Amino acid sequence: MVIHYKCPDCGADMRFDSESGKLSCDSCGRKDHVEDFPKEFIFNAFAEGEAVEYHCKNCGAVILTDQDTTATTCSFCSAGVVLVDRLSGNMAPAKVIPFTISKEKAMKAFKTWCKNGLLTPKGFMTADRVKSITGIYVPFWLYDLNSKGHVDAICTNVRSYDRGEYNYTETSYYDVHRSVDLSYVKVPVDASEKMNDKLMDKLEPYDYSHLKDFNTPYLAGYIAEKYNYDDKQLFSRVKARIDQYVESYINSTISGYSTTAFKRKQIDTQQEKAYYTLFPVWMVCYDYNKSEHIFAMNGQTGKIVGKPPISYGKVAAWFAAIASGTFVLLKSAAWIIGGGF
Ligand SMILES: [Zn+2]
Ligand SMILES: [Zn+2]
Repeated sequence: MVIHYKCPDCGADMRFDSESGKLSCDSCGRKDHVEDFPKEFIFNAFAEGEAVEYHCKNCGAVILTDQDTTATTCSFCSAGVVLVDRLSGNMAPAKVIPFTISKEKAMKAFKTWCKNGLLTPKGFMTADRVKSITGIYVPFWLYDLNSKGHVDAICTNVRSYDRGEYNYTETSYYDVHRSVDLSYVKVPVDASEKMNDKLMDKLEPYDYSHLKDFNTPYLAGYIAEKYNYDDKQLFSRVKARIDQYVESYINSTISGYSTTAFKRKQIDTQQEKAYYTLFPVWMVCYDYNKSEHIFAMNGQTGKIVGKPPISYGKVAAWFAAIASGTFVLLKSAAWIIGGGF
């Protein structure tokens, strides 16, 4: 089933507006709260036939989606549509962080980022490199966890001193025990197969004070994906991450000794709750050097992940300008040449 949000004043399609945090009509400017949009202006179109096919209510065109998409725009009339049957039952998100950064701002940030790449090749931004800019709600699991850690270690302190003609070394042994009980709330793990896990990790942190109960209007005008892995399947990933924190925390409490030898290290992390949550991400796909690159931006905080393209020609020019500089500068230039691509 496809949902359109129709403007009660003028009938145009509405979309979620990141600036105002409301459903907004681009034609007449009307804005509505997400929670109390009048139901009679939510238009449904049922999926037809066996091969599930979604049709745009406006223009009748088939809406092209892959099986993981839950919200998209009609490629013919660009109306924002939400595929609600893919958002029900155990596929219903519990929480969402709405977009707060607009498409224009994301695009501007991309351009600035290219220029601040110091050495962006000439003509990079003038050529039509940008293949797409897309606001995507990426599915995550947020875990509430409890970790109990037990550590036994034998630590030593070594002291040496001179007395008369002799040098003495005195070693004291300590039995050290640590028990910790730690709680972690809302640790995020990316649940989409398509998204690069490392890229998604780097977009953190998100500000949870703006975490909202899920509501479909937040998706209007954006792309949204559903999860490919449930919370049980991803538990090992979040556990590995938290076990590391617990271990380094315990280690940090054992200090002041010359040596530490661990006899037992036991960390038991349990899942208490998991919330299916959608996080906002801007993705810019651009062409450079005959291959595609991705620029990603946290759609809430504006944090950027990606590597600006760097031109060898510009490196050479820049290098010449600082050629009278110090060894340190030469070294950093070499690093840029080596590490640029
Ligand atoms: Zn309107
Ligand atoms: Zn359409």
